[in-house]
Amino acid sequence: MAAKLVGRILDREFPDPPIPLVHRDPFTFLVAVVLSAQCTDERVNGITPVLFDTLGQSPGDLAGVEVEAIREIIKPCGLSPAKSKAISGLSRILVESHDGQVPASFEDLEALPGVGHKTASVIMSQCFGVPAMPVDTHIHRCARRWGLSDGSSVERTERDLKELFPKTRWNLLHLQIIHFARKFCPARGHHVDSCPICAGLALKGLPLHD
Ligand code: SF4
Repeated sequence: MAAKLVGRILDREFPDPPIPLVHRDPFTFLVAVVLSAQCTDERVNGITPVLFDTLGQSPGDLAGVEVEAIREIIKPCGLSPAKSKAISGLSRILVESHDGQVPASFEDLEALPGVGHKTASVIMSQCFGVPAMPVDTHIHRCARRWGLSDGSSVERTERDLKELFPKTRWNLLHLQIIHFARKFCPARGHHVDSCPICAGLALKGLPLHD
């Protein structure tokens, strides 16, 4: 019941949510997603054009430059030692093992440095249209507040959302929740009375967040 209502409100508020990270192809998207760990999308979107215009935008280009050159440019995104190593390493693997292409496989993606299950899920859903449910901090928070999951772990949230919503809905839902969370449901500060989702849940007498 809560899931259906949440889905209806998200469809009304965000019928066609854009992918927040600017990219040109699966590789530039993968690099952007790696850079977005603990960094805002706005900052990543400011850095990726500089990175690709300066060093090149293919796996071959970035595999052929010093890690330090990548690190210098991506410093504003934070965690630059680890992220630059990951970008360099994954670029090399794509060239050596995947013909310079981003593989459309969870297993191959998760074998790349800097790519965990969440990042692989983002790539599979947004680049290849494979149903996935990447759970970031926004989705984890909202699912708990809406009573769709208990918030005990991101694995649990992923499992619960996948059970509550049909597969055909997962990729859209992921983007809708991110946009909703940014607009209405930040970690701190929100207005239960005016928020379309919790107001709707309250009207139906459904349980609300703490
Ligand atoms: S009332 Fe608050 S917690 Fe509930 S969905 Fe709205 S913003 Fe999020």
